[in-house]
Amino acid sequence: MRTVTRIEQPQVASRKRVAAYCRVSTDKDAQLESLDNQMEAFRYRAAQRGDWDLVNIYADEGLSGTSMTHRVQFQQMIEDCKAGKVDYVITKSISRFARNTVDTLQTVRELQSHGVEVLFEKEGIDTADSLSEMVLSIMASFAQEESRSISENVKWGIRKRFESGQEVKVPLYGFYHTDDELYLIQEDEAAIVREVFERFVHGDLPMEIMNDMIARGIKPPAGDTWKRLQLDRMIKNEKYAGDVILQKTYIENHLTHRQIRNRDSRVPQFHVEKAHAAIVDRRVFDQAQKIFAMRKVSDGNSTYPYGDMLRCPHCGKPLMHGGLNNFFYDGVKIQNGGWGCYGEGGCRSYLLIQNVLDEAMIRAYEKKFGEKKDRVDFYWLDDSVEEIKLGEDQVTIQWRDGETSVVEMNFSEKRYCPTRYSDFYSDYLDRVRNGEVKNKYKHLMGLKMPIAQKEAC
Ligand SMILES: [Zn+2]
Repeated sequence: MRTVTRIEQPQVASRKRVAAYCRVSTDKDAQLESLDNQMEAFRYRAAQRGDWDLVNIYADEGLSGTSMTHRVQFQQMIEDCKAGKVDYVITKSISRFARNTVDTLQTVRELQSHGVEVLFEKEGIDTADSLSEMVLSIMASFAQEESRSISENVKWGIRKRFESGQEVKVPLYGFYHTDDELYLIQEDEAAIVREVFERFVHGDLPMEIMNDMIARGIKPPAGDTWKRLQLDRMIKNEKYAGDVILQKTYIENHLTHRQIRNRDSRVPQFHVEKAHAAIVDRRVFDQAQKIFAMRKVSDGNSTYPYGDMLRCPHCGKPLMHGGLNNFFYDGVKIQNGGWGCYGEGGCRSYLLIQNVLDEAMIRAYEKKFGEKKDRVDFYWLDDSVEEIKLGEDQVTIQWRDGETSVVEMNFSEKRYCPTRYSDFYSDYLDRVRNGEVKNKYKHLMGLKMPIAQKEAC
């Protein structure tokens, strides 16, 4: 997937005959911004640009959804462009240019065939840009977004909306839309979205968050009850960070209007950052994505909170997390499992009990920052730790500020020290593989690996 940011308006080299097009579509818009104001703004901007000759301002007034043919000034502008009177059309936004972006695309292509380019100020899209092919596909996907909301609006009472002046919500929880803006923040819902993200990055499980929402009687994003899948989708939705992934779906063709999920990128996908207002901070969103990936391990073993931070001090391979399902430490079942060198090509000579590492990390954090954490969570690891270097009975922490801490890991007995413990565990695994020991846990760390002679480190 390519990443694009908003496209800046390029420098125009030579003098251009510029026409502005503006439109006021609803009563609400009319109050906010009159045609006069829009026209005044265009005049001012043209005057500031030394290379623009403002040849005309075309302005239509009327309700949204008015078809292209009824927009007299718009049609006049097209005619003037075709007649070679205009080089460049500036307009406030795609939605102002035409209600239906499919029409916009057709119009843009028609104008381009006469050497006329269009600037959409709000979206920062200039069809004169060398990336116009990409720009046009972005616009095409705006068209999809728009035609989807149009068809929904039509179905669910667009007439009522105009009669009563009510807002019609887009389906995405936390946002609402107007004619101009597809993603405006709905504050009540946004507060719930923020809470979900905050709690998730601070280590709460989606199930815990969900149960709490239900207990508090918080209305679910959709339907009658909260569903786990809703939370997963919420946490993964880039729109909450203000981004849009364009062309997640595409329209088969303009006759069928059938929408197809763009699974294998049959049409290009674009990740547009900062496309609209964000509900959650980008850092929180990014952390949530990392945590989501850690929590969702197909083996059933979560790698939370260390993710891929831990490496074998003997061979340097990434350590693998395992449940160590029926293993006990000091008479207590090992709740957080362990990290061992039992992945692809691992040396099988290092196995660290996570509880011991957690305890050492919490102690190191307290020593450095004067705050005792209840548990090791990804959010503070990610904030403060650059690198964790494991040893036999000590861990070296490289903090993000450049300082280093060395703390002891306290094993209750020597036999739990990582190298010895891995000997014991490797033997145990071999016995499981040989059938000498029965183990009902299929996901035991390293069990999927073939029997191999342990390599000397
Ligand atoms: Zn190793």
